[in-house]
Amino acid sequence: MKPATLRVKRDIYERTRQKMLDDQLIARGITQNEVLHAMLTVPRHLFVAEALHSQAYTDYPLPIGEKQTISQPYMVALMTESLGLTGAERVLEIGTGSGYQTAILSMLVEKVYTIERISVLAAKARRLFDDLHCSNVIVRVADGTTGWPDEAPFDAIITTAGSPQVPSAYIEQLKTGGRLIIPVGDEESQKLLKITKRADGVTTEVLGGCKFVKLIGKHGWQAEKRESC
Ligand code: SAM
Repeated sequence: MKPATLRVKRDIYERTRQKMLDDQLIARGITQNEVLHAMLTVPRHLFVAEALHSQAYTDYPLPIGEKQTISQPYMVALMTESLGLTGAERVLEIGTGSGYQTAILSMLVEKVYTIERISVLAAKARRLFDDLHCSNVIVRVADGTTGWPDEAPFDAIITTAGSPQVPSAYIEQLKTGGRLIIPVGDEESQKLLKITKRADGVTTEVLGGCKFVKLIGKHGWQAEKRESC
């Protein structure tokens, strides 16, 4: 399987997307052409409610319902570039959310396995993947803190929710040489970590500070009592 060729229609946000690239991504040091091309191609406004379309390309996260967010464009670009993708990878994503990060990955890798714990978000994202022909994406509704053992090992794992620690399953389910990008910290702020699995252990690089919604599950944060999943 190859990276997906998305089926996107022309839209009124083409210039806005280019401006997002120039002002938010290139200006902050994103350089990988494939990542920039994907961010220029994927119609980010389709991943938020219609009332938010005009804000979709601004420099901050936006609500997507269920108390969750679509990440800031720069954060999506930084996390994607940091995975060091070449096009041949099988990637596990934890936290499908709106599906925007997934759609970017689908243009850049062989196959994306994405897990979301909130079924209504997963269902919405699935519909968008069908509409846009993200043909190399598999979506699962589950607690992603245990990874996806049946499909492991992965070339790369990306977690788009903040965790109190690195779930051991992610390291176990990486190939040697594989990369994990994960925000780790408390509920208020986290450090974005890039962890590379080596034959003799792991190396960890801190990419910067960030603030993500919580990774909720067996090896993440506990769900609040009233949460359904
Ligand atoms: N990458 C997403 C996007 O582009 O829209 C943003 C994801 S949002 C910041 C984090 C997502 O992680 C939420 O949709 C949340 O429900 C999900 N999540 C939190 N804990 C999870 C878990 N244990 N397993 C799977 N998904 C989880």
